[in-house]
Amino acid sequence: ATPGRPSNQELMLEEILSDALNQPVSGEVANYIPALAMVNPNHCGIAIATLDGEVHTAGDADIPFSIQSVSKIFGLVLAMGRMGDDLWHRVHMEPSGHAFNSIVQLEWEHGIPRNPFINAGAIVVADTLTSHYSASKAAMVNFVRSLANKDDIHINQDVYQSEKIHGNRNAALAYLMKSFANIESEVEDVLDHYFFQCSIEMSCRNLARSLGFLANRGMQPGTGDQICTRRDAHRVNAILSTSGMYDQSGEFAFTVGLPAKSGVGGGIVAVVPNYGVICAWSPRLNQFGNSCLGMSMITRLAEKLGLSVY
Ligand code: GLU
Repeated sequence: ATPGRPSNQELMLEEILSDALNQPVSGEVANYIPALAMVNPNHCGIAIATLDGEVHTAGDADIPFSIQSVSKIFGLVLAMGRMGDDLWHRVHMEPSGHAFNSIVQLEWEHGIPRNPFINAGAIVVADTLTSHYSASKAAMVNFVRSLANKDDIHINQDVYQSEKIHGNRNAALAYLMKSFANIESEVEDVLDHYFFQCSIEMSCRNLARSLGFLANRGMQPGTGDQICTRRDAHRVNAILSTSGMYDQSGEFAFTVGLPAKSGVGGGIVAVVPNYGVICAWSPRLNQFGNSCLGMSMITRLAEKLGLSVY
């Protein structure tokens, strides 16, 4: 692209963004904690980081937002590296068919969560990190910073404190799993790690850049670092495809066809194998907890470029 002039990709993203902004406003910002409810609901941004190192953006792609459940990807990749296949005795890889914070299934299934992208599963992953690292929170934030190649990635202290104060349901999940001996560390430490990782803030640009390795058989584009094995990259993408978009994962696979993860901060990342990573952000959520405009922008983009992996 000529410096200073938008590339074709950027023009396409601008068009997709303006179509999204012209839609009737729908959805509500997450309000289970005050710190998230205060976010300006009208933000909207999108970024595509391709494997050749280019990043194309439109809208609010450089404003950091609360990555929330998208952090479950980073936790899982770290835990897979540390635990190997033992991890899969502690958490399964099936879609849940229940809400992300559901507790009933855990009782029936003896404290083994359905997958690492529902809260119970991410809390088990957090437990493995708490036991395998002397400072798991620092390990987590350093991992994210090194993937994004940015030092100025931080957690939002208000969100972190608020998650703790309003974390009763996650505490219930953790104690129930501890009663089934599927949590090793102290529940308080595990939840502290979990709330910390949910409170990381990143922009669309940095989130898309940080996850390039999932589109590139485990190798981070740019640095050439092998972040995880090719097999593990395929496995993470497989679970993202079946379980990454809450209770709308089936519909997302049907209409978009990409491994993806969303968070209640309004971010969605979608992995396009052998091409790159898309990240969209807009805080208003639909009834499933997925960003309304994020869904519509990624759907349009996937249709336009024919990105479905199926
Ligand atoms: N911190 C949120 C919770 O555990 C994360 C929810 C999400 O993004 O799905 O309830």
